[in-house]
Amino acid sequence: HYTLGPEIKDWDQQRALWLSKYPHLAKTANGKDRFLLVTGSQPTPCDNPVGDHYLLKAIKNKIDYCRLHDIEIVYNMAHLDQEMAGYWSKLPLIRKLMLAHPEVEWIWWMDSDAMFTDMVFELPIDKYKEYNLVVHGYKEQIYDKKSWVGLNTGSFLFRNCQWSLDLLDAWAPMGPKGPVRVEAGKVLTETLTGRPDFEADDQSALIYLLVTQNELWSNRVFLEESYYLHGYWVNIVEKYEEVMEKYHPGYGDHRWPFVTHFVGCKPCGSYGDYAVERCLNQMERAFNFADNQILEMYGFQHGSLETAKVKRTRMDSSDPWDLHLGMESMQRQLFG
Ligand code: UDP
Ligand code: MN
Repeated sequence: HYTLGPEIKDWDQQRALWLSKYPHLAKTANGKDRFLLVTGSQPTPCDNPVGDHYLLKAIKNKIDYCRLHDIEIVYNMAHLDQEMAGYWSKLPLIRKLMLAHPEVEWIWWMDSDAMFTDMVFELPIDKYKEYNLVVHGYKEQIYDKKSWVGLNTGSFLFRNCQWSLDLLDAWAPMGPKGPVRVEAGKVLTETLTGRPDFEADDQSALIYLLVTQNELWSNRVFLEESYYLHGYWVNIVEKYEEVMEKYHPGYGDHRWPFVTHFVGCKPCGSYGDYAVERCLNQMERAFNFADNQILEMYGFQHGSLETAKVKRTRMDSSDPWDLHLGMESMQRQLFG
């Protein structure tokens, strides 16, 4: 039986003891819970070199959001556990980071193929006081319909606590590469609605746990649907122009999507569910849509969402405070 590591039973006490020794590390300089955004990609170059360029854009995008919102980033490119290669690799990584960073309250996993498209939106963290896992999803889709796409594990928050270690332990056994993962895939396809026949994936396995062990987990899982903690790119990318015309950043929902996630796109290699050209074009648009919100602070904009080229939106002057006016308007949007 596969495990992520030696069993730990008293992490809440150990972490509390550690925090009592280092109380100044418990919060950020702004007095907020510490967040660590965790993402990563495979250790080798992409088969298609342009994929590496889009991985770079995707991490640039995350650095921008995290810089503005006081969030630290870990980018992992190592396979920490050969058995848990691919989409399962986030499990051992998250566990490692929880234990290595007792100062961090929340670990935020985000796929490499997801981008922040609302640079102003802040997580409504007060809503999550009683919860340990926050994931974009729909109650009825999961608990009634057992839909295999009822939630998405491309972007989710995990509280650093014993409950989360326990969930990771319960989640991991379907992951080991080879016959275990293949057999588990059959169970998942039998149990969940709409799931094609393939090896076990982390998303289906989480839904399976929520469905079959509801009483153990569901009371600490917050299914978020009021904004796009994850947003399916197909429903979003054609609307950016309309969004820019009608609204402004800060909503995070259909009015200005927080995250655009390129589920099923594989511009780096292997076969995806969508044409690579379509994926790349739309990734370019999502990146530029987000980047405009950053460039605006410095008086620049992309010529259109299709181009990397930028144009000035303000004239330079000999008065550097002009620049600060742009910054201040951004900060007003950010911090009210
Ligand atoms: N990933 C990783 N190392 C690997 C392979 C994948 O860290 O060797 C991560 C990467 O961030 C990727 C995520 O696992 O975005 C999930 O895979 P993908 O986004 O391709 O799946 P999809 O969202 O299309 O279902
Ligand atoms: Mn993804």
